[in-house]
Amino acid sequence: MARYSARRQPAITDSAPCPCGREATYRDCCGSFHRGETTAPTPERLMRSRYSAFVVHDAAYLLRTWHPATRPSDLDFDPDQRWTGLEILGTTGGSAFHTEGTVEFIAHYSEQGHADSQHENSRFLRDNGQWVYVSPVPPEADRSRTS
Ligand SMILES: [Zn+2]
Repeated sequence: MARYSARRQPAITDSAPCPCGREATYRDCCGSFHRGETTAPTPERLMRSRYSAFVVHDAAYLLRTWHPATRPSDLDFDPDQRWTGLEILGTTGGSAFHTEGTVEFIAHYSEQGHADSQHENSRFLRDNGQWVYVSPVPPEADRSRTS
């Protein structure tokens, strides 16, 4: 039986505002990462493009920007979940001189008319020159990283 989730993705056209919230069209912003024309230069841009990939149901992009050690074998989208906005709360590392970075964010969504959100501090690593998502930062690691 065919899965319908992929067909229910919201229509994001190339000229629409990018779902990640930056002042750019989808084509010029996360779309260029999703199409593989270029790669995200920072963990924040990667985080934003992964959020946008959830919006447009681009599982292939999410999987190829996931660290091999933590990457799931497959990814399903919840057809009832609608992503409604992304807030970046803070970042660490992630410059051209770093191999690691974190991005703390809140992703807003609604599910069957009920508004909810996901708050995560995500860890990113540079893998073969490209930023990839690893996992949430464990709360203890967060606390120990004070200095
Ligand atoms: Zn974007």
